[in-house]
Amino acid sequence: MNKSEYQKLSQNDKRYYRNFYIYQRLGRMHPLTCGNDSNHEVLDLEFENGEFKLKCIDCEYSQEFVAPFFCFTIKEQNESNNDMFSVIYKERYKTLLEEFNKKFGTDNEENS
Ligand SMILES: [Zn+2]
Repeated sequence: MNKSEYQKLSQNDKRYYRNFYIYQRLGRMHPLTCGNDSNHEVLDLEFENGEFKLKCIDCEYSQEFVAPFFCFTIKEQNESNNDMFSVIYKERYKTLLEEFNKKFGTDNEENS
């Protein structure tokens, strides 16, 4: 997804996509990868006909996207203190969020 596609999403879908983007790069759980070649870039989401779809940016691979719980909870998980590696993930989360905002534009409501 590029910036202009992202900007067209609803508030909820923006939040959802942002959490997905961070999940895919945080390294805490295995990211969703290409079914043709796991060395391809981690899967991205496209928004088509009102639905998210998983898509490889290196080849034609695409897959139906069944919403995993993490897309709703990654922010909350990161803010909790019950993870022995939480310091590492908190730093990484912050970096990824900055990277995301730079790429897709900041959202004042989200940053409050
Ligand atoms: Zn691929």
